[in-house]
Amino acid sequence: MAADTEKREMISIEEALAIIKTGIPAPVEQEYAVEEAFGKILAEDIHAPESSPRFTNSAMDGYGVRWEDVHGAEPDMPVTLDIVGESRAGTPFHGTVGKGEAVRISTGAMLATWCDTVIPVEDTEELSDRVRILAAKKQGQHVRCEGEEFREGDLLLPRGTKIAAPQAALLAAVGITRVKAYRQCEVAVLVTGSELVAAGETIAEHQIRDSNMIMLKAAIEESGGRITRCVRVADEEPATIEAIGQTRADIIVCTGGVSVGRHDHVKNGAEANGFAPLFWKIRQKPGKPLYLARKGTTLLFGLPGNPVSAFMCFAHYVRPVITVMNGLPFGWPTVSGEAGEAITNRGSRTNMIRVQLAWLHNGGYCITHVEKQGSHMLTSLSGADGYVIVEPGQTLKKGERADVYRYDFRRDPVEGSMFEVQGLRFKPQSAGLEEETNGVHGSCLHQ
Ligand code: AMP
Ligand code: MG
Repeated sequence: MAADTEKREMISIEEALAIIKTGIPAPVEQEYAVEEAFGKILAEDIHAPESSPRFTNSAMDGYGVRWEDVHGAEPDMPVTLDIVGESRAGTPFHGTVGKGEAVRISTGAMLATWCDTVIPVEDTEELSDRVRILAAKKQGQHVRCEGEEFREGDLLLPRGTKIAAPQAALLAAVGITRVKAYRQCEVAVLVTGSELVAAGETIAEHQIRDSNMIMLKAAIEESGGRITRCVRVADEEPATIEAIGQTRADIIVCTGGVSVGRHDHVKNGAEANGFAPLFWKIRQKPGKPLYLARKGTTLLFGLPGNPVSAFMCFAHYVRPVITVMNGLPFGWPTVSGEAGEAITNRGSRTNMIRVQLAWLHNGGYCITHVEKQGSHMLTSLSGADGYVIVEPGQTLKKGERADVYRYDFRRDPVEGSMFEVQGLRFKPQSAGLEEETNGVHGSCLHQ
């Protein structure tokens, strides 16, 4: 094919992303036991089915008392009260506390009727069935009031929240055992290449070790996908058609066999199985031959075989889809740095140049490019922190600032609003926190 014809056929990175964006199947909602939902994203708003605390209780081990009996108590002027009972965590005191009376109380135990204040053990002296109060600083002290944290009906966890340990604990605390969450994106890996052998196998001179399979498994897991099937397929059309036909997943990631060679069968294999092509070939380096097709709610990515190209295509195009199908909006985690040297793209395609980041004493990052950038050179990935995108003819001058797309897939994606989920905006977990309250609320107390 003449070079200029091919150039016209290729689409830009932005065009490819726009096509992907409109083609991503909606995340799948499913009901889960909270225990099975760790790491998943809530598909529903969770409102509090009850208030917290559910009942007014003590924040300290000590004595439940009436403020009017104890105010003004000091070591030199103690107040002595009759102990009329005990309220333990799990065993409340059912009587009432009258004038001049107190109940022993444990942390978390229900406050007895007419008590409004707790005196910690440290501020008392116990005298068999009486207690001497040595200090009482404030009415309502050490009392946790019913509903002071939240009330029945309040929004506890909005849709789009990741269920981690604190969220699971909160659900348990209000008695919720099942939630609607987005099903983890299911991904299958099909590695093509008759020349490939697994790392542990004996290798002949003309063969190549398969590094894409394990690379993609790691990348998929780090991106939050669930791997459902991994197969290696020879460069034969019938075998490729059969392998694709037997694979069920949200995303099928193939590698190799997607160029113009006589033994490249992924495109035919996909289309023979009813996949409709969405694009083939992007004006980028590495990763030009990337292919995307869709059938129903399944996307098939045909990544190039060269390991670096496959990884770059995964990082820039497949990872966002996994994130969105998991129910999270996606933006690339980038870090801004300063070029430590001139970085030029002399080619005719947009170059995703692998770079290293060094932390400078002035608090910023310095960007330098990795020396050997061949698309078969895995050290250009293993020795890199990320990549910068440089347009044909563009030079990133020494000292110029640039965004580095990071390879650290375990980081949560950030707001980039490149990919949204049904109108969900990315919301950092810390947003919307209300001002801290500090415990003393007279209004709920039995006065
Ligand atoms: P292809 O895209 O199938 O033409 O492959 C391009 C280059 O990548 C060839 O040199 C392949 O041997 C190599 N390659 C393809 N698949 C893999 C793989 N799974 N692991 C390592 N190298 C691969
Ligand atoms: Mg091949």
